[in-house]
Amino acid sequence: MSDERDDAAIEPQARQVQVCLVIAAHPDDVESWAGGTVAGLAQAGWRVVYVLCTSGDKGTSDPSETPERVAARREAEQRAACRVIGAEEPTFLRLPDGELEDNRALLRLLTSAIRRHRPALLLTHDAVTPWPPYTCHRDHRVVGRVALDAAYPYARDALSFPELARDAGLAPHSTPEVWLFCSAAPDHYVDISATLDLKIAARLEHRSQTSDAEALARDWRRRAVETGAPAGLGAAEAFKRLVL
Ligand SMILES: [Zn+2]
Repeated sequence: MSDERDDAAIEPQARQVQVCLVIAAHPDDVESWAGGTVAGLAQAGWRVVYVLCTSGDKGTSDPSETPERVAARREAEQRAACRVIGAEEPTFLRLPDGELEDNRALLRLLTSAIRRHRPALLLTHDAVTPWPPYTCHRDHRVVGRVALDAAYPYARDALSFPELARDAGLAPHSTPEVWLFCSAAPDHYVDISATLDLKIAARLEHRSQTSDAEALARDWRRRAVETGAPAGLGAAEAFKRLVL
């Protein structure tokens, strides 16, 4: 009985499950840079939703491969990684790898994604102070820039893309907070000591992008330790945090 009373006293809003939306350029980006963080959110009861702009169809050194075969393999790997992380079935926008542009079409797609999933927290690439600073993948820069633009102001403002509300029922949404990964200027550290094994297991699901699993696991463990050191954490992922 007391449980029922307690339950009734909670505001409906407080009982809603929080959504973490992750917008990334390629399969394996999220596991590499934020996998421990999103695994921790999933364990804490958050819905973790991935939107992948490309399916990584250029991600092979074999010239006899086709983009279609590479994309199909990488989508399967990403689905497996999401299961390890505890994220939902990922959404693939299937834009061509290496050919993303900061244009209205991508802005509209990412605005739609934000209005559809209505995140309390958005994770995406840092396009302003990216890491590595001068050789950051072009797709990472484009996605980070456009995802942030989509969060503020396009998803928020009713008069931006009014057809999304009118035709698809996607009402405006204000995203309160954004964490940028792959940042050369991080100011927010997440302790991933408890989820580092899951992060690495999920990253290793990207088998087509892994030539030496042991070396890769060792490398990501070392990076987690190095990332945590400035914050006094045993293992961490680091972000540039924006409160919108
Ligand atoms: Zn990438």
